[in-house]
Amino acid sequence: MADRVKLLEFIEGLLENEALKLRRGFGIGLYLYNQLKDSAPPYVLENLQVFDRMPFEKRKAFLIELKRFIGEVTEPPKDVKRSVKKRGLRDFLIPLDKLKFLDNKEIKVLKSLGIGTLLDALFFFPLRYEDRRPLSSLKLAKVGDKVVLKLRVKDVRKVNDGRYTAEVICTDGVDEVKLKFRFKKNDFIFALYRRGSEVVVLGKLKSFNREKYIVHPELLKEGEFGGIFPVYYVRTKGEVVNVSSKTRQSRIRLALNKTVRKTAKYFPEYLPESIRKKYSFPDIDETLLILHTPEGVDVKSLNAFSDPFHRRAIYDDLFLFQLALLLKKKETELENSPQIKLSVDKFVARFQDKLSFRLTNAQLRVLREILEDMGREHPMNRLLQGDVGSGKTVVAIGATLAAVEKGYQVAVMVPTEILAHQHYRKFKAFFDKEGIEVGLLTGSLTPTQKRSVYKHIREGNIKVVVGTHALIQEKVEFHKLGLVVIDEQHRFGVMQRKLLLEKGKGLYPHCLVMSATPIPRTLALSVYGDLDISVIDELPPGRREVRTMLLYDSEKEKLMEAVNRELSLGNKVYIIYPLIEESEKVELKAATDEYERWKKLLPERKVLLLHGRMSDSEKQEIMESFKRDGDVLVSTTVIEVGIDIPEATLMIIEDAHRFGLSQLHQLRGRVGRSDRLSYCYLVIPDSIRRVDAEAIKRLKVLVRTNDGFEVAEMDMKLRGPGELLGVSQSGYFGFNIANLARSHDRAVLQNARDDAQKLLEEDPKLDKHINLKELILYRYGDKLDLSYIA
Ligand code: ADP
Ligand code: MG
Repeated sequence: MADRVKLLEFIEGLLENEALKLRRGFGIGLYLYNQLKDSAPPYVLENLQVFDRMPFEKRKAFLIELKRFIGEVTEPPKDVKRSVKKRGLRDFLIPLDKLKFLDNKEIKVLKSLGIGTLLDALFFFPLRYEDRRPLSSLKLAKVGDKVVLKLRVKDVRKVNDGRYTAEVICTDGVDEVKLKFRFKKNDFIFALYRRGSEVVVLGKLKSFNREKYIVHPELLKEGEFGGIFPVYYVRTKGEVVNVSSKTRQSRIRLALNKTVRKTAKYFPEYLPESIRKKYSFPDIDETLLILHTPEGVDVKSLNAFSDPFHRRAIYDDLFLFQLALLLKKKETELENSPQIKLSVDKFVARFQDKLSFRLTNAQLRVLREILEDMGREHPMNRLLQGDVGSGKTVVAIGATLAAVEKGYQVAVMVPTEILAHQHYRKFKAFFDKEGIEVGLLTGSLTPTQKRSVYKHIREGNIKVVVGTHALIQEKVEFHKLGLVVIDEQHRFGVMQRKLLLEKGKGLYPHCLVMSATPIPRTLALSVYGDLDISVIDELPPGRREVRTMLLYDSEKEKLMEAVNRELSLGNKVYIIYPLIEESEKVELKAATDEYERWKKLLPERKVLLLHGRMSDSEKQEIMESFKRDGDVLVSTTVIEVGIDIPEATLMIIEDAHRFGLSQLHQLRGRVGRSDRLSYCYLVIPDSIRRVDAEAIKRLKVLVRTNDGFEVAEMDMKLRGPGELLGVSQSGYFGFNIANLARSHDRAVLQNARDDAQKLLEEDPKLDKHINLKELILYRYGDKLDLSYIA
């Protein structure tokens, strides 16, 4: 700041004589702005920028306030923090190499973790904390705990008791403790532990026959104990590093410690004050400092992530992500879309007349929601959720029909070749009757076939095209794309969605995303937060629950009975095996062997084999053949999603304990697709009872319920959401610390969402929250392709 006393005099001068100089002078705001621009807080500078245009009374009031502010700063700061000049967020985006206080080794180790900038480093939070305050008395150390002890070496000696080769006898002055080693070459131990010397060791305290001991303790050097030590993730991303993980750990710790101590205090607060107050969150500079260099915080609460600093950091992750998704949503809503306007009631009635079954109320409701959306001139972005077998496809067909009738093309994208064929057939069966051309585009078409499909899409002859990733190829050009339907969304990234949506040539097509697996509400919110959500919460009438049973290998004759029973009723059977070839390590039954076995067991029946190593066209042939006149399909999990063969009534899943619950539910959903009674047998080895009682508990969830949302909820609790969505959490969400596998974090999600919504209502483009905006752009700008606020 320029000379404070002079500034104060200047302002007083302006206010003298009933503020005569203030009335007359001009450029005052500009002058003050230049004097203060390096030191005053943003609200002062913002006011100064518009000062010269303010009405007189306001200028006067502001000057009086400014005088107080300058006066205060002149006094020595009470709180050290307040005297620190904050930097802009951008200043923290500098590459690590530019940080003079880090040496090359430190930079290298941080880079190997994927840390590129100063900001990345500050937000690379520890996984957990170790209490390394040495205990000086053994009485204070709990057996079973990892402890740090300050001891004196009484004796070092070689022993030979079969397990250990050397031991060091230590004392805390009163009691004894032994350090035990198994190394064959152990002379170095004599060098490390000299009789009479003082040592500080870290290790798990054990006790046997009233003797206390630690096996292979870590000998701590000065600087490696005394305080609470953060423990960081040490695995490299890609590159090979030739140092032990212990060395890496201490290098990372040292580098981050330095970085945080030098820079965290300048880190600008980006979270709005109202939110910090609402949750009593600490400031960001303190949060960063404490999380990396925790002092005076209870280790237990740190490790439970329940202290205010962790709570804030977790909230921040979720809040930023929600903001990004909502911004993305807004951005999309501004696009122009083809208006597919029709009388919803009339259309729905007409569509119903074309179907052989009555749509359920839930189907009607979501179809209406979709049609209303498509009638607007801005894009629909809707997620259609529903349990397995709830009838999502027919809803998509309805939306497709509406778009085609209004003269637009529709692209239907699915994740696998088999599904593409299946959907193609379903759509074709419906649209042939309407005289509407449906095309199929998959990677396995010949180049000539592809060229022909491209041509007909481009010329608009093909109205509906069903396909795989092949649809997002550059060569695919639409005549007039109005609607994009994406089935089984979670296999596709946001970017792929975008590539397809860009094919609308100026007009942004409507987008309907259908998820195969029911996703719990909280999670749907977090991952699909940029979409509106419709849920089909009702199954077609007459559907009966699939009877699910757990069966041990030793009860296998029951399977044979069940298979024979179903086949004699004219039904079809699936038998699923987890892997295709036997691996030496894990004894899994190979689907191929089992196929041979079942063929022998059922010589009169048509038994087929399907597995992932087959080519797409082979798979396709097998599925056709099974559908036509097959009896038993032995398969790996390639049939998992979407296959719809109503005559199938028995699903046998071998080694069921190796699957996640949602996957099992999805597999089970391949039966029970008609009004025939259906069964699912989950077969597990007898040994499970001994080695993995948890697995049985888990599988019983499926026995108990047929509700996919309930299953998904359980699955998420047990395995975390990444598994459910088929994405790695950190990669996909870009979180630093939040983890949706923790129920606490999921609970925060709704708050974060509400707060984000509220903030954007007040400040739609975050122009009043520049640091927040910068941070979101840094984290999600590329990932979500956020151009709205950029
Ligand atoms: P999912 O929601 O799992 O994708 P599908 O769309 O494949 O379910 O539908 C499952 C089966 O139910 C299909 O054979 C379909 O024809 C049938 N179906 C859909 N809706 C109804 C309904 N309202 N009444 C009777 N059967 C229906
Ligand atoms: Mg489906």
